[in-house]
Amino acid sequence: MKSFRKELWFDVPSRRAFINITGEVEDALRASGIREGLCLVNAMHITASVFINDDESGLHRDYERWLEQLAPHEPTEQYLHNRTGEDNGDAHLKRQVMGREVVVAVTDGKLDFGTWERIFYGEFDGRRRKRVLVKIIGA
Ligand code: ZN
Repeated sequence: MKSFRKELWFDVPSRRAFINITGEVEDALRASGIREGLCLVNAMHITASVFINDDESGLHRDYERWLEQLAPHEPTEQYLHNRTGEDNGDAHLKRQVMGREVVVAVTDGKLDFGTWERIFYGEFDGRRRKRVLVKIIGA
């Protein structure tokens, strides 16, 4: 069995953003040489997500609005977590809803997606360097 590990780094200039990282994961898969196996992609921060859905800008604005309704950033005093001196209580909750990781099957050297599936990095507390782990195992 082969194993391949790579970190993807992001420095999002805004507090929140969704970034299509499918191409970078496909690059990692090519570099791994693995033809059959599993590909794990996970955020390595508790205020960011990795998820799979449609690459459609309206949907991404819907996510932004929906997440702000569920866990508005302001007023920051509403979150007990922010008593630590942080202001990212909402970002922890948004990350929980959107998930930590995805696993995609690798078949014949390709990510074995459903028709419209793409992989996204969801940033909820940006403006600093953060990373995503890609781990691929197989043969
Ligand atoms: Zn925090």
